Amino acid sequence: MTADWYTEGLPHIWRPYAQMKTAPAALAVARTEGCRIVLEDGRELVDGVASWWSACHGYNHPHIRERVAAQLEKMPHVMLGGLAHEPAYTLAKRLSQIVPGKLPRVFFSDSGSVAVEVAMKIALQYWKNLGKSGKDRFLCFTNGYHGDTFAAMSVSDPEKSMHKAFRHAVIPQFVVDIPSDEYAFAELDSLLASASRELAGMIIEPLVQGAGGFKFHGPDVLAALHGLAKKHGILFIADEIATGFGRTGNMFACEEAGISPDILCLGKALTGGTLPLAATLASEEIFQAFYSDDPEAALMHGPTFMGNALACAAANASLDIFAKEPRLVEVEAIEAQLREELAPCRALPRVVDVRVKGAIGVVQMEEGFDVAALRPKFVEKNCWVRPFSDVVYLAPALTVSADELVQLTRAIKEILQ
Ligand code: PMP
Repeated sequence: MTADWYTEGLPHIWRPYAQMKTAPAALAVARTEGCRIVLEDGRELVDGVASWWSACHGYNHPHIRERVAAQLEKMPHVMLGGLAHEPAYTLAKRLSQIVPGKLPRVFFSDSGSVAVEVAMKIALQYWKNLGKSGKDRFLCFTNGYHGDTFAAMSVSDPEKSMHKAFRHAVIPQFVVDIPSDEYAFAELDSLLASASRELAGMIIEPLVQGAGGFKFHGPDVLAALHGLAKKHGILFIADEIATGFGRTGNMFACEEAGISPDILCLGKALTGGTLPLAATLASEEIFQAFYSDDPEAALMHGPTFMGNALACAAANASLDIFAKEPRLVEVEAIEAQLREELAPCRALPRVVDVRVKGAIGVVQMEEGFDVAALRPKFVEKNCWVRPFSDVVYLAPALTVSADELVQLTRAIKEILQ
């Protein structure tokens, strides 16, 4: 039986990333529990996606619930314009202490896309404030994805991404393949030599390009790209919205390459996947270019809900949990299990590649294989897995149990068989 709220709301809701005429009906969720989604009809799905890779501690972690409830008693929200509150200030300090390198200045926003917009605005205005004109483009990468808003779309792969319909409406950027050999690096080096005068920065998802098809590159490649950005005087922006908070094996993917970005974007798992919050962190050198007696040199940005007190309380609680619970050890175990259990997929028909990084497992199918059509089959097996583009992927909560993970990997093998 369908709940009244569902049938009555259905004619009014506009669903994300969906051709609503042909998409299967959305499943009505009653509640979540650990790494499971409990449907209104009583079925329980093991969640292989962690709500777009955000619920890093699983759902309903008692510590986050307790901290958010306590904050709600005191104050759900006040504007950050002219006002200050403890959860946001504490979180800013704590984030700047744990991110790779020195990024002492934190600007809060309410979604990853906006964190990217802010990063790009900071980069553009940094050069302007330094009196260097003309540096108003970005270098970004094929298969990259940085969000759904306009500036973020402009640095997401304009040909392949879901945003290709907008490619004539966004600012053209420099889009290149992530170099994979010396020759390609030399080519990028010479491109940067001629284009650096126009470039404010380079933006990349470190180690794993997520929504662009879960493509991986190594820490050596990442470090070399960072080196090129430094060599040619352009800012290096790391978008760790998807990779941050343990997903690739370290707290942040940049750590594996031993690099410190000039600007870092965080989101998704920042609040343990509970409330919308994102952050853009910048180096002191960048901040100092805005810090002056000139009002025009200030960063003119301020989302209504920036630094929302409930969301910051959730994020502080999530950091407490990272300090107390063995999340990164769990990622190691997940990685080992994914490697072992997904390896047999290589022998399955139409599988092109199987790759694993941290708590991300990917089975890439031949071009033209309609992976999205597999989604209902996963539900039949009581799994929540959302294949897209040409990949069937898992990015579960970092707390997923070995048994739950077996259920997910077994479903992939049986369905692809
Ligand atoms: N950057 C990356 C790397 C992402 O994966 C995403 C979200 N999938 C975003 C930016 C945009 O974040 P949001 O959906 O919160 O706007």
